[in-house]
Amino acid sequence: MEINNKKIEVLFSNKDIIQRVKEIALELNKKYNGEEVYAICVLKGAVMFATELVKHIESPLKMEFIRLSSYLGGTNTTGKVNAVDIALPDLNHKNVLIIEDIVDTGLTAKFLTDFIKLNFKTKSTVFVSLLDKKITRKVDIEPDFYGFEIDDKFVVGYGLDYDGYYRNLDYVGYLSK
Ligand code: 5GP
Repeated sequence: MEINNKKIEVLFSNKDIIQRVKEIALELNKKYNGEEVYAICVLKGAVMFATELVKHIESPLKMEFIRLSSYLGGTNTTGKVNAVDIALPDLNHKNVLIIEDIVDTGLTAKFLTDFIKLNFKTKSTVFVSLLDKKITRKVDIEPDFYGFEIDDKFVVGYGLDYDGYYRNLDYVGYLSK
């Protein structure tokens, strides 16, 4: 498919994604066993994944949204995480579920898990990411759950952008030219 003169190759279709999201939710439902959950969606990239995932969680659930940035419109990480809006309620003694779009270098995941650890004594903290680029990891961190592992490709769609575009695609693909 061509969008904005860029060719996009489909990596994971909407069907693949929904199927995998349901599998992850099943694991989370086992873990939480009906206990209350605070789901934290990391904007903007995780918005589609988070909204789909929470639909399948069978617990009383509150959604929070935080905003960080590490990419500045291009395809390479800046290597620095900026907290743009990280206002959170009291998460002490809560089950916290952090929902990310992709773990690349791992800097964002580390920043977030450290931030939660430093500020709250949670009942549990689970980090879930739709995608995992294990090959580009720079810090020692793994998501507790992830949807799909991918190679070192810049992907877009299902919330992920290139220069602000493509977040609305209902699939994940990569820019091939
Ligand atoms: P990390 O801190 O792990 O290096 O990067 C995390 C953030 O970088 C993600 O939340 C995402 O916003 C962005 N990112 C990393 N890889 C990609 C990619 O392949 N495509 C897009 N659109 N964003 C990416």
